[in-house]
Amino acid sequence: MDIEQFRKAGYQAIDRICDYYYSLEERPVVSQVQPGYLREALPESAPEKGEDFQLIADDYQKHIIPGMSPWQHPSFFAYFPTAGTFEGMLGDLYCSSIPTPGFNWSCSPAATELEAVVMDWGAKLFGLDSQFLNSSGIGGGVIQTTASDSALVAVVAARSRYIRQYHTDVKQEDLIMYTTTQTHSLGLKAGLVLGLTCRALEVKIEDQFALREAVLRSAIEEDKKRGKHPFIIIATIGTTSSGAIDRLDEIGEVVKDYPSLWIHVDAAWAGVTLACPEFREVAMLDSINQYADSFCTNFHKWGLVNFDASAMWVRNRKDLTDALDITPEFLRSKHGDAGTVIDYRNWHLGLGRRFRSLKVWFVLRSYGAEGFRNYIRAGIDLNNYFATLVRGSSNFSLVTEPSFALTVFRIVPPSVTDPIASQTLLNSLNQSFHARISARHDIWLTQTMINGIFCIRFAVGAARTTKAHIDKAWKLINEEAEVVLANLGQ
Ligand code: PLP
Repeated sequence: MDIEQFRKAGYQAIDRICDYYYSLEERPVVSQVQPGYLREALPESAPEKGEDFQLIADDYQKHIIPGMSPWQHPSFFAYFPTAGTFEGMLGDLYCSSIPTPGFNWSCSPAATELEAVVMDWGAKLFGLDSQFLNSSGIGGGVIQTTASDSALVAVVAARSRYIRQYHTDVKQEDLIMYTTTQTHSLGLKAGLVLGLTCRALEVKIEDQFALREAVLRSAIEEDKKRGKHPFIIIATIGTTSSGAIDRLDEIGEVVKDYPSLWIHVDAAWAGVTLACPEFREVAMLDSINQYADSFCTNFHKWGLVNFDASAMWVRNRKDLTDALDITPEFLRSKHGDAGTVIDYRNWHLGLGRRFRSLKVWFVLRSYGAEGFRNYIRAGIDLNNYFATLVRGSSNFSLVTEPSFALTVFRIVPPSVTDPIASQTLLNSLNQSFHARISARHDIWLTQTMINGIFCIRFAVGAARTTKAHIDKAWKLINEEAEVVLANLGQ
């Protein structure tokens, strides 16, 4: 393809993307294709001779688009939203227009410098302590691929710091990481990848599934007595299942007595609420600033930036570079050697890295801090509206208090007077209800299991969702519930 062919194909691509967005609402929110559909449609090997790009572009429309579930659909209430924007899309387009592996400053100085700047913008937007700023020269921010990568990097850095500073002779099998039963699978995954024991601490429904001081303290004491070495706690602000918020204030108090413990805060979904001053207390900003060694939130979830852009800040950048800096001769550079620039290759697991800060820059400039905050507030308002509908219904109950833009609920019909005694019945009722909802293509809700309770999650945050979409969702939810309840009565 030459430059003029690219220009033509590019114009067509943008036209088709716009048409796709105009038709978004008429499309199924969950792709309707069956497993293996694409293998049947595509040749078994790459073509021997190059093909005309128009054919390829048409096949994209014909075969790929139907297999894409549009997470940007306004009736998407599953998982957590991936709120892409056109600004983010353009950032990715420009990013891939000048492919660069960006692993050190000299690769493409703008890539490193923009990342350092936008991560400072992000830190200020979220109210993080000045020590987390790149401009502090002490801590700093880096964009990782996902929150799972951020956690993995945090565990690597924490382990390295623990061994260097506290216990040079510790055996790998004696190291312990802590998470809770509600932590995202990223904790166990990090343990698996690194060959470390990850202990998931029990949290209670009466604590709204938050990790509290007593549980953490007794786990540490017990493990130390057994000769084990706890070195990191991964706390969550806004768990995946129910939006639970670990009591970082209490965790911080415990860690005062065990200063070798690293606190990583996984706020992959809910961290962006820190942009709004009114949510900072509930999202534990003061404790993050006081105690966290590292903090992560995903711009690519509820933060308006197209996947991928997981923002990670550390209090002390040396913890990262001490753990991850490997510099063979071929990676040395004048500025890197002089220590006058950030070499982001030493802040993440790979070497090469995408120029992700470009899309973050586009989004933050285009929305402004005010637009960003308004978008977060709108999601929370819509969720509060949904929660009010649930509260007002005689057939449904909240399982936990709504958290930011997430409501966890289930059917509990009026005939069930003792939900605990009727747990099996309620679980099977709600599984049938969820199966019916999942068979639809005009709404998408996902399920979870919390302490044996099968529940339905309703997560608001797709950029095009309005009150009318919540009303429509509520109508569909009630229609399906009525069928399930009628079957129960038979
Ligand atoms: N942490 C929490 C609280 C999440 O809800 C999720 C995903 O939903 C993750 C981490 C994982 O995010 P990622 O896909 O960026 O690793």
